[in-house]
Amino acid sequence: YQAKRDRSGVEVYDATRDANTPDRLGLLGDLRRALDAGEVELHYQPKVRFDGQVAGLEALVRWVHPERGRVNPEEFIGMAETSGLMPQLTEYVLEKALGQIASWRRMGLEVPVAVNVSPRDVHSPGFAGAVAARLARHQVPPGALQLEITETVLLEDPQQAADTLNGLTGHGVKMSLDDFGTGYSSLVHLRRLPVSELKIDRSFVARLVVDPEDAEIVRCTVDLAHSLGLLVVAEGVEDDETWERLRELRCDAVQGWLVAPAMPPDEATAWLRARGEHGWQRPALTPAPRP
Ligand code: C2E
Ligand code: MG
Ligand code: MG
Ligand code: MG
Repeated sequence: YQAKRDRSGVEVYDATRDANTPDRLGLLGDLRRALDAGEVELHYQPKVRFDGQVAGLEALVRWVHPERGRVNPEEFIGMAETSGLMPQLTEYVLEKALGQIASWRRMGLEVPVAVNVSPRDVHSPGFAGAVAARLARHQVPPGALQLEITETVLLEDPQQAADTLNGLTGHGVKMSLDDFGTGYSSLVHLRRLPVSELKIDRSFVARLVVDPEDAEIVRCTVDLAHSLGLLVVAEGVEDDETWERLRELRCDAVQGWLVAPAMPPDEATAWLRARGEHGWQRPALTPAPRP
């Protein structure tokens, strides 16, 4: 199999370079087993406001394969999606995330957690009810859970998607529109979706400081979102200058390595304890060199 190394030097399995079918089937079987065995983990990445207040945490799946090492989430999520394993993965993630929310609440850490859901979930008629039942079972107030969806949910069956989303918001669950700008963005869609938050995709944020067109896209997106009463989060913020530009553009919150990477539960707990009281402090800007 093919492997590459990520930033931390951990080996990452990359099935895109390894499209041979038996191998992918093997991986799918392994994922199924890993879910049954509880070996898939959730890491948590903070979203913070510009005053440092923690707006929430996003749960991101992590799977370390016993032989292949860490498998890229985009890869196995795509696989779960096309193979019909998605409902099981979503159940698994929701179950873990709700357990974590409940456990943080018992420690006095009342922070909303966002879970990514796939179009497949949104198109399943029983989904809203199942989420409500799970919340009740964990005794977690619906407002503590956020679900991140992408615009692609509207491609297939807009009516079913609308029913599910309205069902969820009706129960008090908050919806967030993820990766905004990369899909089939239409203002009509945006107006129709009952979301309270919009996340600007990393691809626009990454070059914000150097590319005036990206900056203009971000500015327009923030203004549009605000005019619709939505909170705007920028994803993939890696440096001070980008943070500063986003603040000037009146973005509401940021997520990215500048603040913190996705962290395993214990580390996220320590991070929340340390930052909860005084908020996250942005490191001082490095002064520009004098001419
Ligand atoms: P996403 O929801 O847009 O998540 C953000 C991705 O950006 C995450 O990648 C995160 O680790 C990465 N990221 C965060 N900060 C930075 C940064 O400063 N710089 C850069 N370069 N990247 C950053 P990850 O964890 O690989 O997840 C990829 C995608 O997989 C997610 O994109 C989401 O669409 C999907 N995903 C993750 N967990 C789940 C899950 O539990 N269920 C479903 N259905 N999808 C999931
Ligand atoms: Mg997301
Ligand atoms: Mg995103
Ligand atoms: Mg993304």
